[in-house]
Amino acid sequence: MRYFDIDLNLTKEDILLRRTVREFAQKVMRPVSREIDGMTAEQAVADDSPLWDFMKQAYELDLHKILLPAYYGGEGLSPLQVHLVLEEMGWGSLGLALQMTVVCFPFYLACMTGDDELIDTFVKPFCECRDGSIRGCWGITEPDHGSDVIAVGEDYFSSSKMRGNTQARLDGNEWVISGQKSAWVSGGTVATHCLLHVQIDSSKGFAGNGICIVPLDRRGVTKGKPLEKIGQRDLNQGELYFDEVRIPKGWMLADPDFYVPFLDMILASANLCMASWSTGLARAAFEEALTYSKQRIQGGRPLIEHYAMKQRIFDLFARTESCRAISRAAINLNFKLSPPHVEYSLWAKTQCTEMAFRNTHEAIQIWGGNGLTREYILEKLFRDARATLIEDGNNETLARHGGHILGEKYPRKPI
Ligand SMILES: Cc1cc2nc3c(=O)[nH]c(=O)nc-3n(C[C@H](O)[C@H](O)[C@H](O)COP(=O)(O)OP(=O)(O)OC[C@H]3O[C@@H](n4cnc5c(N)ncnc54)[C@H](O)[C@@H]3O)c2cc1C
Repeated sequence: MRYFDIDLNLTKEDILLRRTVREFAQKVMRPVSREIDGMTAEQAVADDSPLWDFMKQAYELDLHKILLPAYYGGEGLSPLQVHLVLEEMGWGSLGLALQMTVVCFPFYLACMTGDDELIDTFVKPFCECRDGSIRGCWGITEPDHGSDVIAVGEDYFSSSKMRGNTQARLDGNEWVISGQKSAWVSGGTVATHCLLHVQIDSSKGFAGNGICIVPLDRRGVTKGKPLEKIGQRDLNQGELYFDEVRIPKGWMLADPDFYVPFLDMILASANLCMASWSTGLARAAFEEALTYSKQRIQGGRPLIEHYAMKQRIFDLFARTESCRAISRAAINLNFKLSPPHVEYSLWAKTQCTEMAFRNTHEAIQIWGGNGLTREYILEKLFRDARATLIEDGNNETLARHGGHILGEKYPRKPI
């Protein structure tokens, strides 16, 4: 389906970029993601998995560095262009889109420090990588701490009773890291580097955390088995274990003094990505429903010609456009601002994931029994969308965090 874009100011470059990624999403991401979806979690990351060829092709298209500035060798895309790319990838497969974006996380954050050593050691090799051999992941949640780790506004966040599962101590010029991250680290089982949250000063709870880069070939690192789950099965996940792992002092990107602002930057970016992918997912469900409603005959005519169906199809369209409007507005704001207004990223993530989920749910209803069979993609879109309500912070926790920011930020009395 040729999709109209409400923004009449897209440049030729924007349109060409979108066309390239759309083609990749249609011809590569969709078929690969469905193939992996049908495999076990172990098979999905085995040497003969189609994941590897997908990654190689995505790196060749430079999709691994779309968030990185041109100055350091990244793509240097405008916020709108980032949105265009992420939406198309989300249409192709939310799981693979996430896999391809999380690979840049440690390097993206290293760029924000502007530290020459980190740029030379980590960012430049990543940007030059064309074969998919350098892959990042993000380890923030822990076996004992899911929502806790982003609950900045809650009193317990800074409580000494909050003992993290991953500790770091300074020993001369090195950090020594021990502990473990949750089974949910996206891309963790195939990653070569981790953007790792560690507790440095436990007397401050999670406010005493730091964020570092750990190459996962360091002595003392081990990985868990890939996790089996119902949605985003094309995105592998697994634990990371650290046993007295040593890294140079300079690889700590943020210590407790800068932890919360850094956490906010990460949350702002991660949530914008999730909102943009969800727009693609919402669109995919809308397109499936529209196409089916024109093909399926009931009462002697196509479903779309029935009055009640027209309204339902319009609602799917409306939610898709709302997702796009919200996620573009938020990306346009927060990819230009430092520090970002995190509440707008939280707004975009919570709203877009809810609307995308609603679209997949409603599209299945429009497809009737056919929507439930594994023969068609809709049931996968539905399972993938369900996971988005939980990942990158479940929506209730993100909403509470947003409420906390609003309470802190805005004056008691309107001016
Ligand atoms: C597909 C996917 C990808 C992910 N990728 C990553 C990744 O790359 N890296 C990573 O580190 N983690 C990742 N995660 C983990 C994810 O961030 C967590 O699952 C999420 O933050 C929620 O934590 P939890 O699952 O432990 O749920 P919990 O925090 O245990 O929450 C369970 C329920 O309790 C509620 N709840 C929690 N706290 C409170 C409270 N204070 N008051 C009231 N209600 C509360 C929640 O709203 C929720 O409904 C991923 C998860 C998924 C599903």
